[in-house]
Amino acid sequence: MIKRLTFSLTICLVILTGLAGCTSARDGETLVADQAAFKAAVKALKPGDTIVLKNGAWQDFEILFTGDGTAEAPITLTAETPGSVILSGRSNLRLAGEHLVVKGLVFRDGYTPTSTVIAYRRNKEHLANNSRVTEVVIDNYNNPERFETDFWVLMYGKNNRFDHNHLVGKRNKGVTMAVRLNTEASQENGHLIDHNYFGPRSILGANGGETLRIGTSHYSLTNSNTVVENNFFDRTNGELEVISVKSGGNILRANTFFEARGTLTLRHGNGNLIEDNVFFGGGKDHTGGIRVINADQTVRNNYMEGLKGYRFGGAFVVMNGVPNSPINRYHQVKNALIEHNSIIDSDHIQLAAGSDQERAAVPVDSRFRHNLIFNDPGRDIFTLYDDVSGIAFEANALNNVANPQLTTGFLSETIVMTRSASGLKLPQASIDAGVRRDLVPIAKDATGVDWYEKQEPEVAFGTGKTIDVAPGEDTLVAAVAQARPGDTLVLGRGDYGVSRTIEITVPLSIRSGEPVAGDDPAESGGRIRYSRSALFEIRGGGSLSLYGLNISGVDAPDSAGNSVIRTSKYSMIKNYRLVVDKCAFTDLDKNHSFNFLSAAPSTFADMIAIKDSRFSDATGAVLKLDRELDDYGIYNAEYVSISGSAFENIQGAVADIYRGGTDESTFGPHFTLTSSRLANVGHGKRNKSGASLRLHGVQVTSIEGSIFERSRPIKVSHTVGEPVTHITANTFVATVMPEVVELNSGLENTALIENNVLKEQ
Ligand code: CA
Repeated sequence: MIKRLTFSLTICLVILTGLAGCTSARDGETLVADQAAFKAAVKALKPGDTIVLKNGAWQDFEILFTGDGTAEAPITLTAETPGSVILSGRSNLRLAGEHLVVKGLVFRDGYTPTSTVIAYRRNKEHLANNSRVTEVVIDNYNNPERFETDFWVLMYGKNNRFDHNHLVGKRNKGVTMAVRLNTEASQENGHLIDHNYFGPRSILGANGGETLRIGTSHYSLTNSNTVVENNFFDRTNGELEVISVKSGGNILRANTFFEARGTLTLRHGNGNLIEDNVFFGGGKDHTGGIRVINADQTVRNNYMEGLKGYRFGGAFVVMNGVPNSPINRYHQVKNALIEHNSIIDSDHIQLAAGSDQERAAVPVDSRFRHNLIFNDPGRDIFTLYDDVSGIAFEANALNNVANPQLTTGFLSETIVMTRSASGLKLPQASIDAGVRRDLVPIAKDATGVDWYEKQEPEVAFGTGKTIDVAPGEDTLVAAVAQARPGDTLVLGRGDYGVSRTIEITVPLSIRSGEPVAGDDPAESGGRIRYSRSALFEIRGGGSLSLYGLNISGVDAPDSAGNSVIRTSKYSMIKNYRLVVDKCAFTDLDKNHSFNFLSAAPSTFADMIAIKDSRFSDATGAVLKLDRELDDYGIYNAEYVSISGSAFENIQGAVADIYRGGTDESTFGPHFTLTSSRLANVGHGKRNKSGASLRLHGVQVTSIEGSIFERSRPIKVSHTVGEPVTHITANTFVATVMPEVVELNSGLENTALIENNVLKEQ
């Protein structure tokens, strides 16, 4: 005690001399201004004390917050003003001890020097218990290496709480938040995770993009007893699992999932309760609901609307198990209670899903009762993959399905839905099925903190200023350098010379000042020639939309590997978008391997859309998206679409897309080609695949209404999952038919190849 008093006195003396690293604002409260003062203050902590970090940016601050408070007198670490203490550079936080509270901090402009931003432990032996992290923000705090793994929050210990936090923009590999059960001291933990805002997480394009994981397969027969409630999951699109439950005894209750691709998956562990959750898919691709695996799961009173996901990512999925399953495979569904859920305007309910030679154990001793399934046209959205007699169906309501597959336990009648004040669609009062009528989804504004804005994740094209750019030498270079996110640069008639590679670091539109009449952009102006190895380089934060431009590679250097557009050769953690509309690209034939787009490893396009454009005389490929060769399930673009376009004399492939490996954690890549013409494509001797379109591991492919003349064949390799390939109504002139191979499944070819016309010449 005397020591402590002496210490406080020292602090106050230091203040009086004006050399303060810390001050005592009031009894037990210490304001610290630098890391040394913080360390000293931690050493002196006693129950009821508070350390206050001075407002400002704290660079490279690895906070180790330890102490033993009591339930009545916790020890607190907080900000002078919530939101005004910024932890940046290589900062992180470990808390260990009893009854600790951390509040009001912001992690931004940097990334953790370790594998974790916030850990509820100092080391394996020294954990946090009865402690709380609240009103903390982690915003785009990412390792710049996309596939370097780290975690934002790891919970250890027991009886901890994580609430009212704002986590947004996790972009590198690694689950955003996980509850760890790796020692007994962290099992049956009773943690509470509530009122957090899990903001948008972009598509990772690989495994490791989950938002919340509770447990791991290794400890999955252990109970975690964690409660996850009243959180808002806003477009948490990292991969196919938004939440992966891998332990038992958890309650996930009253969370809102807004347009989130993927599902809440009961992957491992028994006896979990999933109730009162609301899923709004908004009709967006791959939005899913709940996937049930294992024993003794209760799923009740959940609301699912507008979910478009299919297969394991459907609105509601009950899996088949593996008989005597190893701990990391699929345990049989037993004793599941599924009741009073509403599944509305959604595409798929799958029962006994995943049934195959290995997953042969059908669901047993389970009940499916008082659920409401509503689709406008009375469509039957059930798919039964195996024997479902182990599920007792009772008193479920269907909206006017003419010939439902499941008849016993379903009443098909005319249901009239009305949207309630709380935003949910409810049936007429006489229907005793679906969610309780007073269910209210947690609102975005009721989660996170009110002092930190919940921003949109990206700036749309054409939302900024419009800037005219006169023809001339490097006028375009100068204009791009000045442009702000969302701006549009308008090019007039005339020639634009470009003598350096233009770095695109913001979303930018570059367009002709006049609409393109007919199909010749040369007539509308904006002729660009460039003399470096690339015209544009897309860098972190950049996206590009081109309209009505005529771009020639005639002045490009006489060396191999030129491009019109390339991505940064360094890892990009921000995904980009590329739109090309009514443009012409010619003379891409200086030396060999001249591509239109060259994507580097660890770069990822959310979308690449080419429409009504012309490409001629290229010695390389048009879209070169094949640089992730490690076979880890990583790829370079989610949606690639080409429509109404013409490709002539292209030595490489029009699209070369590679997604290797057998991991099943992603929805993409997706590829579509419609109403286009390929002539003399793919014959170059450096085109190793020998294809005009090479699609390896693409999950969804549609090639329709196009003409292939004197070109190499389409080559598709199916690798994992159940890839959907449709090649229909095309004409192949002096071009052999598409080749589709199943690399791993051992199954018959699943591609739909029909109504194509084959002509000799
Ligand atoms: Ca995963």
